[in-house]
Amino acid sequence: MLDADFFRRWMTATAASVDREAERLTALDSAIGDADHGSNLQRGFTAVAAALDKEAPQTPGAVLILAGRQLISTVGGASGPLYGTLLRRTGKALGDATEVGAAQLAEALRAGVDGVMALGGAAPGDKTMIDALVPAVDALGTGFTAARTAAEEGAQATTPLQARKGRASYLGERSIGHQDPGATSSALLIAALADTAEADGE
Ligand code: ADP
Ligand code: MG
Repeated sequence: MLDADFFRRWMTATAASVDREAERLTALDSAIGDADHGSNLQRGFTAVAAALDKEAPQTPGAVLILAGRQLISTVGGASGPLYGTLLRRTGKALGDATEVGAAQLAEALRAGVDGVMALGGAAPGDKTMIDALVPAVDALGTGFTAARTAAEEGAQATTPLQARKGRASYLGERSIGHQDPGATSSALLIAALADTAEADGE
């Protein structure tokens, strides 16, 4: 079972991973966006880690709701409200439980991803974070390791696509041939989840 501490460690691991990969995320965003995705998420997840330290929420749902709120209030770009919605919706779906199972998390993440699609209007194949998140949630029923692989493959599969949502869509065909930054960071989020689960022997 996954408790509040597990979710806190997932968020902390994501913050560390975003820190390590910030330059790469920004380089991807400089090719098809405005070169701020790495710094946006760095600012956001630094705030998430600090808020979790300070407020010490006691349930998995409360951890993700607090994290989502921080992302919405600290990230200026499109990705802040979208990631914020992902985590808040997932947290709300987990309710007040003090421990949740992997299947419950998979179901809650599905609700979170649906929230991102409703907010941003993107569908799979539009070259956005959705292209990593949907395959990850689909694979989560099989296990955390399968979800990591699916997210990474989903992110890589955005390269030949033409962007239909967000800033990259302004480039039209010129968006083809570059991996989407948001799908790349979503793969980091899912990899951090799998790392945290594997460290616990889940
Ligand atoms: P901005 O585009 O405002 O500079 P970021 O650079 O932080 O914001 O984030 C860009 C990423 O956000 C894109 O790579 C894409 O994955 C994601 N994104 C943008 N618009 C949407 C949308 N409507 N739905 C889902 N994801 C989106
Ligand atoms: Mg950007």
